[in-house]
Amino acid sequence: MTDTKPLVLVVEDEHQMRTLLRLALASHGFRVLEVETGREALQQAAAHTPDLVLLDLGLPDMDGLDVTRRLREWTATPVIVISARGHERQKVEALDAGADDYLTKPFGSAELMARVRVALRRAARTAQDPLTSVVLIGELRIDIARRLVSVGDKEVHLTPIEYKLLVTLSKHAGMVLTHKQLLDQVWGPGHATQMQYLRVYMAQLRQKLEENPAHPRYLVTEPGVGYRLKSET
Ligand code: CA
Repeated sequence: MTDTKPLVLVVEDEHQMRTLLRLALASHGFRVLEVETGREALQQAAAHTPDLVLLDLGLPDMDGLDVTRRLREWTATPVIVISARGHERQKVEALDAGADDYLTKPFGSAELMARVRVALRRAARTAQDPLTSVVLIGELRIDIARRLVSVGDKEVHLTPIEYKLLVTLSKHAGMVLTHKQLLDQVWGPGHATQMQYLRVYMAQLRQKLEENPAHPRYLVTEPGVGYRLKSET
């Protein structure tokens, strides 16, 4: 990481949760800026250009979804949304609006820090080199330049759609992609409701890549939200 400590903007109206986030982040060497409302979030984001935003979706003055949209009008800084259990739709909408990942309350600090690290790594990678040619995750190797996929020393043959799906996930390795994002990016706009495609192709990919497709090591289901290609195993 850089020599200056990354700045995280924490947007959360619950005092206890804010304290928890601040302590966890500070103990891992982050600088923390805390606000309680969406309005303050937008002001502080513009004034301080944080390296990452942790955004609670249930804010007193604005919908977290609108905060996400407003941020995305001018900044690509990673946004991780925090939502209450059961608010799946809100979470999915925020991801579709440009949030990078999510945490569901309650979560532990290990999970929080893992999400934060992945999001910052991806932001750094996108800034310097948008075209990663080889992705390595455990035994899985995706050579994008040569269009070769292998697990261990075995080459795996993928259909064009399977390959596109895997590469799309690999560009966001470690982060969630919603059903809609995957359908839009792999099949093109207008297929957003055709969830069964996604399910079928994901099952095929798991058959080809996973040792035990019923307990995937790489291609993880995020129930009600989408899928995640793990960035480390
Ligand atoms: Ca709240």
